[in-house]
Amino acid sequence: MKQPGTSGLIFNEPQLWEKSREGRCAISLPRAEVERAEFDPSLTGDAPDLPQLSELDVVRHFTRLSQWNFGVDSGMYPLGSCTMKYNPKTNEVQAARQGFAGAHPLTGDEFSQGALRLMYELEQLLGEITGFPAVTLQPAAGAHGELAGMLMIHAYHAKQGRQRSKILIPDTAHGTNPASASLCGYESINIKSGPDGILEPEAVAAVMDEDTAGIMITNPNTLGLFENNIKEVCEIVHAKGGLVYGDGANMNAIMGVVKPGDLGIDVLHLNLHKTFSTPHGGGGPGSGPVGVVDKLIPFLPVPRVERDLDTYKFVTDCPDTIGRMHTFYGHFGVLVKAYAYILSMGGEGLTNASKYAVLNANYIKESLKGTLNLPYDRPCMHECVFNDKHQQEYHITTMDMAKRLLDYGFHPPTVYFPLVVDAAFMVEPTETESKEYIDQFIDAVKAIAKEAAETPEKLKKAPMLTKVTRLDEVTAARKPCLRG
Ligand SMILES: *Cc1c(COP(=O)(O)O)cnc(C)c1O
Repeated sequence: MKQPGTSGLIFNEPQLWEKSREGRCAISLPRAEVERAEFDPSLTGDAPDLPQLSELDVVRHFTRLSQWNFGVDSGMYPLGSCTMKYNPKTNEVQAARQGFAGAHPLTGDEFSQGALRLMYELEQLLGEITGFPAVTLQPAAGAHGELAGMLMIHAYHAKQGRQRSKILIPDTAHGTNPASASLCGYESINIKSGPDGILEPEAVAAVMDEDTAGIMITNPNTLGLFENNIKEVCEIVHAKGGLVYGDGANMNAIMGVVKPGDLGIDVLHLNLHKTFSTPHGGGGPGSGPVGVVDKLIPFLPVPRVERDLDTYKFVTDCPDTIGRMHTFYGHFGVLVKAYAYILSMGGEGLTNASKYAVLNANYIKESLKGTLNLPYDRPCMHECVFNDKHQQEYHITTMDMAKRLLDYGFHPPTVYFPLVVDAAFMVEPTETESKEYIDQFIDAVKAIAKEAAETPEKLKKAPMLTKVTRLDEVTAARKPCLRG
């Protein structure tokens, strides 16, 4: 099969100031009817140093810069844990509609009924998908949702009259989990996962006590595995008065198949910028809604959206609330996209999205398991984790193979994470890649493994076809050179 590769033109492009020519201009305005006045720096200070360019200079500049970039619109982006999937453009169009994009948060409830209704209904929809009776849309990201959830757990224990000091966190949890627990003043107790890569109830029972506020479980975990013992783990934690935080950033693996609320989880965040149609990784706004069980509802952030017959309103009068997590009501544009996505997919569509995400990951796992080492050889969820053990005899590392994938036209997968696997190579194809693209990726990895055995010295130089070749990563991060 033909690889996408990266042969073709990659233009050099100087800064706009270097392209600037005195008197060149991109607009032609009608002749003014007033007399031309000279610029007087004593009144206005020096004129800004703006480049003088034609329209074509500007168009080429930005088009060329965009071609140095790589995104899911240009090719497969199998970055594990990040869900870099294709998001239908129609949802962007809905969010950009004048009524939504032009809505002002100070307009007041009376004139914002449509926006409030959308938020109310989105809360209901996310509650149905996750199995929780109430949801807040305020947090701006996954980790921010974790913080909101942990603050609610903290407030819950305070309300019970006795604060607890510790939180249990398995070694397969996302790295943001212990950070969120620490921000609430909890000490994180690390639990080792078992030989299958999942939590063992005995390990939880051994450390769970009445000074432990709860546990934070990423499910599916960062190995891409479903926590099969989760119900038992929840029971152990509940029996000692603890609460269970579920990291649901990877909900794209289980939508319509299992509801975290049914498993015994008390509070869970979602990443709308992974599962629900906001592009991830572009540095734009995200959203991390949080669902809770009944006993945590009083602690939800304010304002809450409530419905009174056919009118919707914001409510702030909640005495036990943890307060605000964000100015106004969170990232509204992201909420519009999630709402449009959920309604256009429907229940069956969302369920199929999860099933395809899991099917695609398992197809890659089975296709590559002889080529790369697979430390946990069992059915995976939306992502699979390999490492470079088979390539070690040629002194080829995960990093070398990831860099070479760029030459084959693929964004590399996540590397060296999760930490439980040495030199991890973690692939998340997502549900939006077709079999043809996935096969190209598999062929590329196989071709690279062959190069590792036959011409390892060449692989050490990869990438060779990109605009810049192998960089010293530390210097590139510490002293970035953005001139191209
Ligand atoms: C991405 C992710 C997070 C963090 O989400 P952000 O929006 O980047 O803060 C947390 N947990 C898991 C499992 C994730 O995959």
